Amino acid sequence: MFRAMTDQTADIRIPLDHLPADGRFGSGPSKVRVEALRALAETGSAYMGTSHRQKTVKDMVGRARSGLSQLLGLPDGYEVLLGNGGATAFWDVAGFRLVREHSHHAVFGEFSSKFAQAMAEAPHVAMATTVEADPGSHPHVVAVDGADAYALTQNETSTGVCMPVARPAGADPNALVLVDATSAAGGMAVDPVEFDVYYLSPQKALASDGGLWLAACSPRALQRIDDLAGRWAPASLDLLIARDNSVKDQTYNTPALATIFLLVQQVEWILDQGGLAWAESRCREASGVLYDWAEAHELATPFVADPAMRSPVVVTIDLDDRVDATQVCSVLRANGVVDTDSYRKLGRNQIRVATFPAISPDDTRQLASCLDYVVGLLAG
Ligand SMILES: *Cc1c(COP(=O)(O)O)cnc(C)c1O
Repeated sequence: MFRAMTDQTADIRIPLDHLPADGRFGSGPSKVRVEALRALAETGSAYMGTSHRQKTVKDMVGRARSGLSQLLGLPDGYEVLLGNGGATAFWDVAGFRLVREHSHHAVFGEFSSKFAQAMAEAPHVAMATTVEADPGSHPHVVAVDGADAYALTQNETSTGVCMPVARPAGADPNALVLVDATSAAGGMAVDPVEFDVYYLSPQKALASDGGLWLAACSPRALQRIDDLAGRWAPASLDLLIARDNSVKDQTYNTPALATIFLLVQQVEWILDQGGLAWAESRCREASGVLYDWAEAHELATPFVADPAMRSPVVVTIDLDDRVDATQVCSVLRANGVVDTDSYRKLGRNQIRVATFPAISPDDTRQLASCLDYVVGLLAG
């Protein structure tokens, strides 16, 4: 059983030589590189507080769109669209102009289940079906009769499970594959041939801030938007309107300018370092440090049993009953190492750590050494 948190626990000081240079390990909002924040501050009076209808901001939106397109290696004919409201709003956006009447969802955690629920409740979508797996694994998606949109989640941020992005074998060739890439985009490889829409919020793997959605759309997806043009949609959730604005490097209503700037900083930084392959190998290095630590420690186990399903960008580690994960996280926090808490609704004795591209593998090695120290002390 857990021991009560004593004053002594609250006072634990992790020796300085164990601490990471940057203590931000949250899965979202996630670490924004200090260099990117400085670059934003250095724009002074030239960017923040200027009109989003003028060239300065439109150029920044253009860099976000072309940078993402380059990072993902999008073929000709694909478009990066964007709008306000984050991935959560995008689920509703998709319901109006991407799902014709039947969506089929891989459900294996909080985020994937929310999209399925949104479609089940949408009056304009006749049917939403699911294939489910318990948290800690992912289901295998096969073609379903009548499904015109398949919903995959490349990385389930709530559990640290990743799944392959692939068109389900035997699926209707006109069916769309919609991929929630919120915590994967920029940190995991993907083949654009396998998706029609790859959408994200930029405050996770792309180290920016919240409030926006971005969606890389295939020609087939762009066609579907036109096909469903006759359906009523609220203007703020209308992909037709979003598309018309996006191709002019604008959004329908005012976006967060800092979010766009920080996104461009991160995308261009990853491109300069070597692109998606570089980013994925960096994430695999950092996550590997933590999985190895958990495998080796008698009081820790990787939550995701199958190594192939273990996320390179969000690591979940179960702790033995002798150590209270909540205490571990509060000791870490008191020492400046923050947001290692497990997803609140999962309800496990667990820590969850992001290993996004912005987070250096050296800092992750330091975190492993902090964990060693704190878990050792708390277990007594
Ligand atoms: C965080 C997250 C979302 C929700 O993003 P918001 O920006 O909060 O709307 C959706 N899907 C996944 C996989 C996420 O990690």
